[in-house]
Amino acid sequence: MACKEENQVPLGVFRTWVKYIERGEFPHVRRYFSVLRCNHCDDAPCVTICPTVALYRRPDGIVDFDGARCIGCKSCMQACPYDALYIDPNTQTAAKCNYCAHRIEVGLEPACVIVCPVQAIIAGDLDDPRSRIARIVATEQVQVRKAEQGTKPKVFYVGADTANLTPQLQAPTQQYLWAQRPAEEVSLVNMLAAQSGDGRGDPALSRPVYDVPHTPRPWGWKVSTYLWTKSVAAGALLVAALGILAGEAEGGWLSGVLAPLVALAFLALTTGLLVFDLKRPDRFHYILFKPNWRSWLVWGAWVLMAYGVVGVVWLLAGLTGSGGLMRGLAIPAVLLAAAAAGYSAFLFGQAEGRDFWQSPLLLPHLLVAGVVAGAAALLMLQVVGGRDATGVDTLGNLLAGALVLHAVVLLAELFRSHVNVDVGRAARLITRGYLRERFWGGVVFAGILLPLALVWLSPAFAAAGTLLALGGLWLWEDLWVKAGQSVPLS
Ligand code: SF4
Repeated sequence: MACKEENQVPLGVFRTWVKYIERGEFPHVRRYFSVLRCNHCDDAPCVTICPTVALYRRPDGIVDFDGARCIGCKSCMQACPYDALYIDPNTQTAAKCNYCAHRIEVGLEPACVIVCPVQAIIAGDLDDPRSRIARIVATEQVQVRKAEQGTKPKVFYVGADTANLTPQLQAPTQQYLWAQRPAEEVSLVNMLAAQSGDGRGDPALSRPVYDVPHTPRPWGWKVSTYLWTKSVAAGALLVAALGILAGEAEGGWLSGVLAPLVALAFLALTTGLLVFDLKRPDRFHYILFKPNWRSWLVWGAWVLMAYGVVGVVWLLAGLTGSGGLMRGLAIPAVLLAAAAAGYSAFLFGQAEGRDFWQSPLLLPHLLVAGVVAGAAALLMLQVVGGRDATGVDTLGNLLAGALVLHAVVLLAELFRSHVNVDVGRAARLITRGYLRERFWGGVVFAGILLPLALVWLSPAFAAAGTLLALGGLWLWEDLWVKAGQSVPLS
């Protein structure tokens, strides 16, 4: 309450909160409490991913934020493994504990420290070996939350119960002692609890009995659709340029005009979705003019712009019948199309809070998804336009090969041995849990097997196959984005 008052934190969001858990069976039951908040990590992933330097680490170690620079992209919420950030409902910008920096600057302690009647919260300078906090950390047994994330958190717990700090040791709970959980959180909990082997009812797991609400999934359908439109945008010109380099295409109507038109139209849709997903779309230009060059959101914006320039020049070359210009542009087009399709692997890699997204297969998978989308889009135009029947076979074979690769990579992603429990839970959610019908029926059968059969069967069915392949690809992106955010962070 002191934090809320000091920092004017609106209702429904929290900079610091107390979580209760219970463990044991009657009559040997015990309840544990822990204060959770930003850890002011030495190696803070929220700072790295923030595209506009709205989050930054001060020389004194406090990880602070500047709401005036925030564009509300929510990437920091995906990067933080500790659920420490929220979107302020009044300003629509990200916020979190900033160690009451305004008080520290005038020699005061944070509000939570001075209000605590039993000195359970101790603040100080860890770099000063004579400080009380440095002595405690040096001499007592302390623990931090999720040390394995490598963020070097700077909130140390003495005598805390490990289960209170470790979400994997807590059973899915539909409601709390004195509070109902928000409906979206309950549906996520039910989703996780329904998975076999999840351990619901396992007496070894603790039961959370009080917590604050958390944003269940900061990224929704707009991010899934952005991945999909970007695959189509990148794939259309990638396939056309590869065709020219391989001598399969001449730079005619399909590869010279329709391919760049599709690329540019879907690039515009991709940009629109990115802007539409921001909580502060009016500040979109900050990505370009107040950039954090360590953030892949910034690099992605520049890659997309460069790709757009190549697309426009390619279109002009196609309209004027300049085959030489197209051949000269083919290699830059392939490289930029691959960068446009693949940069999201590095962006999602910076979302360190989501272990499921930290897969080494993500980059190859996004490149394959680009080829699937590009080949499907061009094949559809080829079949519908009916201008050149010879290209249908080539594009059909390319689409079929890319679909097979797509299937191999996604099955490897889901069924390889998982690096930790959270990744396994997210993968099981897709293969055996709540999302399984959509995965096996929508992605695998309708999105891969059926299009393969249709494309191979006859060119007459190829258009239907391309539609199904594109639909299946969108569904996969959506499941992947959803599952990655389904495992609780705190
Ligand atoms: Fe705080 Fe999370 Fe950023 Fe660490 S990653 S500094 S806990 S907001």
